[in-house]
Amino acid sequence: MELPIKRPDRIVPDYSLTGDVLSFSRCQRSYRYYNGSALPPSRPVQMWYGEFIHGMMERTFRLWQDRGGLPFPLPYTAITENDMPGEPPAGIDALDLRVVGWPIEQALAHQGKFARSADARISAYERAEAAVNQLGPHLFPLIDVAERKVLGTRPLPASEVHLAERAARYVLQGIIDVLGHTQLDGQPSENAIKRAIMAANPHLTGEYEIIIDYKGSRRPRVDDDPRGDWKLGEWQVQTYAWLRSQQVDARPVAAGILIYVSELAPGSKEMTMLSTEMRNGWTDIVPTTGTPDYYQVSGWTPGSQANLSLPFRLQRAIRVIPVTEASMAEATAAIDGVVRTIEDRVAHERQSMQIKQSWPADSNDDDTCVACDFRVSCEHYNDPTRRRRGRGPS
Ligand code: SF4
Repeated sequence: MELPIKRPDRIVPDYSLTGDVLSFSRCQRSYRYYNGSALPPSRPVQMWYGEFIHGMMERTFRLWQDRGGLPFPLPYTAITENDMPGEPPAGIDALDLRVVGWPIEQALAHQGKFARSADARISAYERAEAAVNQLGPHLFPLIDVAERKVLGTRPLPASEVHLAERAARYVLQGIIDVLGHTQLDGQPSENAIKRAIMAANPHLTGEYEIIIDYKGSRRPRVDDDPRGDWKLGEWQVQTYAWLRSQQVDARPVAAGILIYVSELAPGSKEMTMLSTEMRNGWTDIVPTTGTPDYYQVSGWTPGSQANLSLPFRLQRAIRVIPVTEASMAEATAAIDGVVRTIEDRVAHERQSMQIKQSWPADSNDDDTCVACDFRVSCEHYNDPTRRRRGRGPS
């Protein structure tokens, strides 16, 4: 009797759009190392900053909702480099952003996630304060569903490397906020988010949804590079839209929005990069010639005080991405391709038992490398001929 050959064990690996797909696209080697001793995906790359910003927006929105509105701006007792993480000092207002932020820091600490440095912690609070107080009044009245988990399974494209595969399908998941058409209709045309949505989709009518996600980073430069933040951000939002469209209570998704939080409180580095990008035509949102914002950006010298107007900062922070069936199909196919490559790397490591040979150190972004714990032993980082490019804080 001929015995059937035992099939390899099959699993359905679980991928997060930010923790896995975007991290892998930045550098395959660091993605693998940050996954610890297990083959990915076991835990997402630690992203304290992004998760802290998400947490602050979520908690302040809940407070705003529970209290039927809040008096913006919310107070913020600034932390300094001498303030270690811990309970905020007694006597601070319950709505102070430091009081709001501390439980989020604690929750992240329980997951083993901490700010990289005292400066990174201060910067996160400053940017969260800008996001809550400058964007919150425009954003919170538009939110229909907050912190919705979206999840779906997709078939893996066939591998071209012919190694033993562990999966035929994979799970993709993320967390989004959803803006509703009813809430948009009810807001005045001066609402900065409504204005941006209408400018990008002038013929929006009927029932629809807009999905929204936050990036701790600055607005990336416009770029067709499939590993660049501009393209990856677009694919991420389109894929969120596809995941949302699979849910029973979803209405048609008309657009996605990315909020680039660093644009609300730009520092010297963001101003320098904006000035360079404006000079070279690398960015889509620049100040109108002759305005005070224009002179600030064009004449920027490092070390000066950035004082851009709020309307311009909001314009830079809000990126609206129209969503169609075709755009969702293109983006999900691109994400499938990234997951296929991760699975090929997993298969290669299982066979070769070699991490370095299976996962190339391939970041083309200097900021990613500078923040990487593995740079000392990285042949790519220590290669003086490699091409360097800055992404800005993330
Ligand atoms: S130093 Fe850069 S190229 Fe090397 S592993 Fe880290 S992120 Fe990747």
